[in-house]
Amino acid sequence: MPRDPVCGMIVDKDKAIKRKIGDREYYFCSETCARTYEAPEQELRSMKRRVTLALLGAVSVAALRVLAMLGLVVAFMTLEFAGVSVWELAFFVISAPIVWIAGWSIHYGAYKALKTRNINMDVLISTGTLAGWFYGTISTFFPTLAPGGHGYFEIAIGILAFVLLGKFIEETIRRRSAAAIRQLLELQPTIARVLKDGNEVEAPIDDVQVGDILIVKPGEKIPTDGKVISGYSSVDEKILTGESIPVEKSVGSEVIGATINKNGLLKIEATKVGTNTALMQIVSLVEEAQASSAPVQKLADRVVSYFVPIVFTAAVVAFTYWFFTTNFSTAFLVLLAILLIACPCALGIATPAAILAGVGKGAEYGILLRGGEYVEKARKLHTIVFDKTGTLTKGEPMVTDIIAYGGYKKEDVLQAAASAEKGSEHPLAEAIVKTVGNSNIPDAEAFEAIPGHGVKAKYEDKQILLGNRKLMKDNNVSIETTEKSLQELEEQGKTAMILAINGKAAGIIAAMDTPKENAATAIKRLKSMGLEVAMLTGDNERTAKTIATQLGIDTVIANVLPWEKVDAIKKLQAEGKVVAMVGDGVNDAPALAQSDVGIAIGSGTDIAKETGGIVLIKDDLRDVALGIELSQATMKKIKQNLFWAFIYNTISIPIAAANLLNPVIAAAAMAMSSLFVVSNSALLKRLKLKT
Ligand SMILES: [Mg+2]
Repeated sequence: MPRDPVCGMIVDKDKAIKRKIGDREYYFCSETCARTYEAPEQELRSMKRRVTLALLGAVSVAALRVLAMLGLVVAFMTLEFAGVSVWELAFFVISAPIVWIAGWSIHYGAYKALKTRNINMDVLISTGTLAGWFYGTISTFFPTLAPGGHGYFEIAIGILAFVLLGKFIEETIRRRSAAAIRQLLELQPTIARVLKDGNEVEAPIDDVQVGDILIVKPGEKIPTDGKVISGYSSVDEKILTGESIPVEKSVGSEVIGATINKNGLLKIEATKVGTNTALMQIVSLVEEAQASSAPVQKLADRVVSYFVPIVFTAAVVAFTYWFFTTNFSTAFLVLLAILLIACPCALGIATPAAILAGVGKGAEYGILLRGGEYVEKARKLHTIVFDKTGTLTKGEPMVTDIIAYGGYKKEDVLQAAASAEKGSEHPLAEAIVKTVGNSNIPDAEAFEAIPGHGVKAKYEDKQILLGNRKLMKDNNVSIETTEKSLQELEEQGKTAMILAINGKAAGIIAAMDTPKENAATAIKRLKSMGLEVAMLTGDNERTAKTIATQLGIDTVIANVLPWEKVDAIKKLQAEGKVVAMVGDGVNDAPALAQSDVGIAIGSGTDIAKETGGIVLIKDDLRDVALGIELSQATMKKIKQNLFWAFIYNTISIPIAAANLLNPVIAAAAMAMSSLFVVSNSALLKRLKLKT
């Protein structure tokens, strides 16, 4: 049964809504899901329309003001229609669609927040803009009740324009989570070769049942999870495990769908299909993690939740005072004035302007910040968890040790091994060839690969064997002299190969996936920042420990299956820790989505980059610390901006309470706070990160 890639629902293939995107058919539960999938930008486009409307309104009222100042519309200004000033009516007409159409999402957001007994930014802005608009409307139609009030239309428009612009900026920076799921789904093969009544038939993957016998030719993707029932081959499982050395598979071995069969024909029995496969399990883990990550309460909202009750109290107290000392209309207008002035224009852009500056700064250093929420979370970071293969290490083996026996020199051992392996595509062979340099390797004759054991070749009239103990035993080579070194190397998690020349052990070559150049420096730096560093890997304990010791990592979580990584993160979070995860592979995607700050390595898979909140473009691990520092610097800007956003308006509240507020003071407070917020954000450009 196919799965709706938007909502994750299992849908009936015949009844579902179909869309063909690329060479793949997708099934959706509803038109809405299909539309969301096809055009993730749709919401952004509608937001853009609303921002444009508000900005156009702001520009037109400003233009009218300028015309008035230049004395160009004096005749128009004095025109009256049924006792209502046409001039003020113009402002009313311009402001109405902005407040009610462009600003609708904010009023609705405020309603939803209040319904759940929350106070957020929307509540303050909705109250402020509505207060300003009603004040202006009363002033337009009943000028005697609220004289000179139409300046408040412009302030309401200004607030909405700024707030919508801020929301639009944030939305354009934010990641689109659907892309990760989509790319994961695209890893799944579309067709399978099914054996039916002795005939090979190509069938769509959705038709494969548990128990079906599938044929997988060399170079093909394994269609679904299964068990080998005949054949022998090595399978590249890098896509799911990150491990570059192919895994040998023989009868009885389990294979995972979407991994690549390298060199032999495999006949497998499907054991898991559809949503039960390992790949689909990862898909649902990513979905779950993305859906369950509770949105952090933004700092702006936290500030507002303290500020609003104070404002409302002040408004009620002032209203009561003026009601008893003068009359209702004065008291009511004071109330509206307080609500209006308490809502700063700059509030809407305080956070987005700082984040935008942070994103720009990050781009200079090759650090991609994909949303404000990560910035806010990075400041409380406690633990940073690294994936091993491909993240801390290069992801491919390198020759680490060469030992020579029987009078041979190390160079001879390496040379003989390289020539025997020259034609092979196996990562271990490539590591040996790379160490020697391709141009210095003579061609071997009679090359023969013995799957799972090693290679046999002839080189300068010598019989060469390179491989494991089994290969040596099968060819009657005595390896007693090598055993101690072999064990030592294996103890360190290295892959050791024995080289025999003319039937005698001549040396050992050991290879291992080694740490990246700056990994140790990067870890040291993170530790000095007071962070706990841990390593999370599917690899065995020995290999994991060797790498961890080299890098100075104390906590190692080894033997973790791809779909279990997310549990390790959840466990740390359950201890109350704010966790960052650094990873590169498909197997890291659920953990990246679950962690508070997902950091993806730029050289990693697109899926990791799609689920990560911070992407390090340069593949330099030292950038992890820079990314965190950048987030912290950006957070500091957000805090400062919020201060500047509120300060002028806060000072103006007593003026409003004293019934002395006029539109000029209100506009000046709004302008000052906006100016300070924008220029303070621009200062982030001068930040220098310690590289
Ligand atoms: Mg990896």
